[in-house]
Amino acid sequence: MARRKKIYEGKAKILYEGPEPGTLVQYFKDDATAYNAEKKATVEGKGVLNNRLSEFFMKGLNAIGVPTHFIRRLNMREQLIRQVEIIPLEVIVRNYAAGSMAERLGMDEGTQLPRPIVEFSYKDDKLGDPLVPEEYIIAFGWATQQDMDDIVALALRVNDFLSGVMYGVGIRLIDFKIEIGRIWEGDYMRLIVADEISPDSCRLWDIETGQRLDKDVFRRDLGSLADAYTEVARRLGVLPSNITHAPKPTLIN
Ligand code: UDP
Repeated sequence: MARRKKIYEGKAKILYEGPEPGTLVQYFKDDATAYNAEKKATVEGKGVLNNRLSEFFMKGLNAIGVPTHFIRRLNMREQLIRQVEIIPLEVIVRNYAAGSMAERLGMDEGTQLPRPIVEFSYKDDKLGDPLVPEEYIIAFGWATQQDMDDIVALALRVNDFLSGVMYGVGIRLIDFKIEIGRIWEGDYMRLIVADEISPDSCRLWDIETGQRLDKDVFRRDLGSLADAYTEVARRLGVLPSNITHAPKPTLIN
């Protein structure tokens, strides 16, 4: 059988050549990494869950008119996506202080921000993805002022959508990261949401208990990552039926 061509392998996903020009196959691995890959583990079932969850969020965004790279899910671990030119930025939206922001500013995690804040990190593992002002992005030509205005507008729409969806299932969206890609349609360029949206790239807290349902469970050793992601998938109604980490049966007396 002919082997398909691997285009790129990252920490959590692999990209293969797609069936048609302009498409790629995105494969979700079970690998979990944190602190710039200093901490590593394999979490059985994570790839399957993130494939489903990213499908769910991207489909929803497409449905409300926020363009994404998602075309369709192919199987348990793979989805067909549009090939984009990735802008080398991590676009982070924060609703509540947490993680690096809480640390940098000495704020308590969970403090509500006066309004959603959008910030940018330059994607470079060797440099540890440093926070960069918009001024740098434009001066270095990574994106234009027009691109940046469009990216902020996209990021805020994604934030409203994700916050609302998560609120509906009793989860607070603390912050998240997206990546943006360019696609060319003839002479026109469009910016679309790319990469993935999953508990690997969001902070999700249970509204009632504050329980972490995201990658902080792994970063901070707070329990089973697979159980946390399964809970998010279960609440959203996207749990695949034959997942290995289905909720354990409870004994009825
Ligand atoms: N994030 C991510 N990839 C990164 C860095 C951050 O997906 O390389 C996400 C992270 O999961 C969180 C948000 O972006 O939802 C903000 O992360 P923060 O800047 O607080 O960094 P961290 O504390 O994760 O180092």
